[in-house]
Amino acid sequence: MQSFRTGIGYDLHRLASGRRLLLGGVEIPHDHGLIGHSDADVVLHAVCDALLGAAGLPDIGDLFPDSDPAWKDADSRQLTGRVLTRVSDAGFAPVNVDVIIHAEAPKLGPHKARIRASLASLLRLNEEAVGVKAKTNEGIGEIGTGQAIACWAAALIRRA
Ligand code: MG
Repeated sequence: MQSFRTGIGYDLHRLASGRRLLLGGVEIPHDHGLIGHSDADVVLHAVCDALLGAAGLPDIGDLFPDSDPAWKDADSRQLTGRVLTRVSDAGFAPVNVDVIIHAEAPKLGPHKARIRASLASLLRLNEEAVGVKAKTNEGIGEIGTGQAIACWAAALIRRA
């Protein structure tokens, strides 16, 4: 059996006024936030799917369906904790994660360090095992015109 496995994750949520903007478990000051059944933290959702995919487990849409009232306004930090438990129960532990946040606004440069620290804490990793990058969409498309924020994540896990 292989000792190391990789996974990828992706998520996108629409932006709307009157919502908090949560990225990687960190609240970012902005005049818009992400809409979703849960708190719509695209970064944690992408990271969770990367970890679940690496472990060969069902994705977060299967584990926490938006048709289930139990997950309404769910704190994605708690969902991440549940995902870690599933990954651990499957015999794996995270090694590192790397994410790309795709947002036109707000500018995420000043927030990347906090997001990185939050991800490291949630995943029980050293910060050097967490990468956080931010990109704009050069003003084009749904992301570039500020209608949505997306995130890609890659994860490596090892057999514990
Ligand atoms: Mg999501």
